Amino acid sequence: MQELNFDIITTLIMVAVLFLIIVVRYFIFSGAYYYTTFVLLRKRLISRILDPKPVSVKQIRSEVAYSVLSAVIFAVFGIGTYWLWYKGFTAIYDDLSLYPLWYLPLSIFLVLFVQDTYYYWVHRWMHIPKVYRYFHKVHHNSVQTSVWTSFSFHPLETLLQAVILPLIILWVPLHIYALLVILIIMTISATINHAGVEIYPKGKYGDWVGKMIIGATHHDVHHRKFLFNYGLYFTFWDRVMGTERELSSNDRRPKS
Ligand SMILES: [Zn+2]
Ligand SMILES: [Zn+2]
Repeated sequence: MQELNFDIITTLIMVAVLFLIIVVRYFIFSGAYYYTTFVLLRKRLISRILDPKPVSVKQIRSEVAYSVLSAVIFAVFGIGTYWLWYKGFTAIYDDLSLYPLWYLPLSIFLVLFVQDTYYYWVHRWMHIPKVYRYFHKVHHNSVQTSVWTSFSFHPLETLLQAVILPLIILWVPLHIYALLVILIIMTISATINHAGVEIYPKGKYGDWVGKMIIGATHHDVHHRKFLFNYGLYFTFWDRVMGTERELSSNDRRPKS
């Protein structure tokens, strides 16, 4: 294989290509999710839409602009991680026989849990008023969230979010496909949690899922009430630390 040259021009081209991929993914996934839930399945999901009033165009413009800015930062970190992998610094592997197959789902869960733990505590730190102003206010400008809010962060917050995955994969052995699954889960969960429509089922299994995994209703409470429900994927830390907010009758809640 020809040696890859990480000179400034090549690196910039790689960052630009990855940036385009991230942005296109954002528009396609968020757009498709919005179209499916709010247009195609509107009648079926009408009782699960958290707020019937549409989000203003001004808010969506701002969310898209900050999300595109986030994509620049994610692209820089993505190519930085690629460089770490290329130089052999990461614990990423591509030979499935290196670890037992059960390690594959376990490694995915482990990384998601570490990410969730990191985000819970960073998130709580970002809610300290002095920090909030510089790091986190931009994300909370969206009180009623939308699919476009999913990557709408101040660049300082994006930096904090982007740094954790490269750090994890320096230490945790992760198959390249497991990494891909994690990246997909990151995109899907950020969109689901901000879309403003609850898609997780109700009933016995739905309630169990809802108790463990964060969905749109849970994260909507965070955007509206600020001091509850800080988690990223799981409700674990909110429940352990007593920051879980059960929905009260005052909160908007899907009827079925
Ligand atoms: Zn949010
Ligand atoms: Zn917050």
